[in-house]
Amino acid sequence: MALTVGDSDVLLVVDVQNDFCPGGNLAVPQGDEVVAPVSRIAERFGHVVLTQDWHPAGHQSFASSHPGRRAYETIEVAYGPQVLWPDHCVQGTHGAAFRSDLSIPHAQLVIRKGFRRGIDSYSALWENDRTTPTGLAGYLRERGLTRVFVAGLALDFCVRYSAEDAKRHGFDVAVIEDACRGIDVGGSMAATRESFSKLGIATIAGSAIA
Ligand SMILES: [Zn+2]
Repeated sequence: MALTVGDSDVLLVVDVQNDFCPGGNLAVPQGDEVVAPVSRIAERFGHVVLTQDWHPAGHQSFASSHPGRRAYETIEVAYGPQVLWPDHCVQGTHGAAFRSDLSIPHAQLVIRKGFRRGIDSYSALWENDRTTPTGLAGYLRERGLTRVFVAGLALDFCVRYSAEDAKRHGFDVAVIEDACRGIDVGGSMAATRESFSKLGIATIAGSAIA
């Protein structure tokens, strides 16, 4: 089935940043493999939004902020469970920069997320406390963008939560699966697939986009 991209469609490119690619501080396996397909797919879209994980040093999601804890452990914070990560995407660092080979000069908006020290943000729409909006839903509505295609890193965290929240907000959502890579912590890939099918989030191949 070929999908024709129209003026009410938007491509949401999630966290294609140095730290999430091999050689980075929180590398997603084969994360660099999304850069070329995402850049190519973006050429089809008149509207593209990028997200950028953007943490202050000492962020609550960093294992290094919790003495005695290790990366990939889960702890309880004020808003519930939070996976602890290696320090990553610290504001203004090379790791937080977009991949230099990501070529989307026509991107219209960059949503920075996770910039509050005490709240992580996987989703491009809601931070992890589930009550702090990023403003993206309002932006999409005001722009008349109704169908959201999602690609990037990591499939089972920031792509997943962004897709779920977009769906919950009433947007049509499709995840371009071959333009994503996952990290798979504690069964998170299986949980992602289950959630997508439960919520009716389509998964498509990049080749389906005409
Ligand atoms: Zn982060």
